[in-house]
Amino acid sequence: GTKKETCEFKTEVQQLLHLIINSLYSNKEIFIRELVSNASDAIDKARFKEQTEPELFEGSNDFKIRIATDPEKRTFEISDNGIGMTFDEVNENIGTIARSGTAAFVEALEKSKDANVLSPELIGQFGVGFYSAFIAADKITLVTKAAGADKGVRWESDGKGSYTIEETEKKDRGTTITLELKKVEEGDQDFTEEYTIRHIIKKHSDFVTYPVVMNVEKSEPIPEEAIVKDADGKPIGETYRKVRADETLNSMKAIWTKSQEDVTPEEYEEFYRHISHNWDKPMEILHKRFEGITEYDALLFIPSKAPFDMFRPERKNGMQLYCKRIFIMDDCKELLPEYLGFVQGVVDAPDLNLNVSREILQEDRLVRNIKKNLVKKIFALLEEMDKEKYEAFFDEFGQALKAGLPTDFANKERIASLLRYKTTKSDGKYVSLDQYIENMKDDQKEIYYITGENMKSLLNSPLLESLKAKDYEVLLMVDPVDEWVTQSLPEYKEKKLKSAEKGDLDLDAVDDKKKDEYTPLFDFLKEKLEGKVKDVQISKRLKESVACLSGDDHGMSAYMEKILKASGQ
Ligand code: ADP
Ligand code: MG
Repeated sequence: GTKKETCEFKTEVQQLLHLIINSLYSNKEIFIRELVSNASDAIDKARFKEQTEPELFEGSNDFKIRIATDPEKRTFEISDNGIGMTFDEVNENIGTIARSGTAAFVEALEKSKDANVLSPELIGQFGVGFYSAFIAADKITLVTKAAGADKGVRWESDGKGSYTIEETEKKDRGTTITLELKKVEEGDQDFTEEYTIRHIIKKHSDFVTYPVVMNVEKSEPIPEEAIVKDADGKPIGETYRKVRADETLNSMKAIWTKSQEDVTPEEYEEFYRHISHNWDKPMEILHKRFEGITEYDALLFIPSKAPFDMFRPERKNGMQLYCKRIFIMDDCKELLPEYLGFVQGVVDAPDLNLNVSREILQEDRLVRNIKKNLVKKIFALLEEMDKEKYEAFFDEFGQALKAGLPTDFANKERIASLLRYKTTKSDGKYVSLDQYIENMKDDQKEIYYITGENMKSLLNSPLLESLKAKDYEVLLMVDPVDEWVTQSLPEYKEKKLKSAEKGDLDLDAVDDKKKDEYTPLFDFLKEKLEGKVKDVQISKRLKESVACLSGDDHGMSAYMEKILKASGQ
């Protein structure tokens, strides 16, 4: 008998739920993966707590996830004996606080053309997680009991604006979520069907570290002595019978602990989809046991597509840290530098302390060593890729690499050698800085570049006339991030990077007499353009055009000014 509270969902959550309930799904089954992954997370947390408070888990540390369905009542139930939630935690996690991804999700969805078709990619990337259950349910009931608590909590909602929450009796620790399923429409999957669940778990949750168990109908041979036989000893009637028994639906294979020869390409791909929530194939796989003073396993993937939110500050990085197959944390920023955050993977380091915190990790020598080695391996992998594959990689993740230039001082040269640009002479093909240097004219001393918004206008820029006349190649930089490249890379292999649009190009000395000749004209122009230009000079860049605008050596490029203006600075 405690009171029952009715609470409103936060606005963002309401918006999200409205979209979920009223959208068409190309892939409804995805909600099962989300619920299983939450159950698995909850068990991870329980096992973690068990390290320090074993008494809380005595007699109940046979961790598993259980699924049960009822075709008559049309319910789908998933329970776990994980950490559970207290009253406040339910309110916080499931009720009111929009997870960081949620608002971004709603925003992206509204922007997307097919606003009423939710794709699994979107759901996966934003982690709408728990709420995705409303894809399939008219009503959801969650009953949970936190480790060490006396009472349980019951939460209920139809997803239409509010939920109820109250204290309740619950015998065992953990969480049970019951979905009252929507009516199955013609051609829909039926989530009460054993076969359907089996298939979905195998597909999405096979590597979950804990058994996902379902009581299923099986057929087993009838024992010899129980078979009814005729006079000749031939069985009369059935030799098999149907029984109900628990079955573990997932393989739980922690493939990162295996050696490469023992993992099939399909297993790698499945595992990649499992950890990344992506649906594409990985572009590259890096699987290695590092041996030495300390040993650890690493299994890393380079996705074939960049995530749409690669540069959002709240984006999680793709690394998970394990210790002897026990999950320690995801979003493990200590394992890879931020600019390589697109890499997805697992590191299992048996020598780590299970109770390690993020703060300690930052100081941990072992972890720093792992990070250094992983970065080295990733660079080696990129450097060894064939040209075509590498260029495809660069198209997706080149921006991320560039972001490493100002931050990863130790690897600056290596990052720079991985950059690719189209040039005034490359005919739309990529050129590396090394290739550029190789192609340099005998009398050319510097690497020239020009920045701007699009290739076409850059190619026709009057600023390039005199460089063209000398047959010098110019890098065409059209990526906004290139501004940071030019700022953090003043030179490469002892060749200065020089903007074709800034300062004195110093190509040919200007005749002083000519200068005097033009002084009155320039003074006149300066007066007319006061406040709009800093100076009027004879240009050494132009061959045919009469005049052009250019920046001074230390000033911003025109494009940079535009970017800053657009971003309100
Ligand atoms: P995420 O898993 O990305 O945190 P979800 O929407 O899937 O987001 O879940 C929200 C939160 O609800 C989780 O972070 C967790 O705190 C809590 N939660 C969900 N399911 C469970 C569960 N089975 N046991 C304990 N806590 C849970
Ligand atoms: Mg989740």
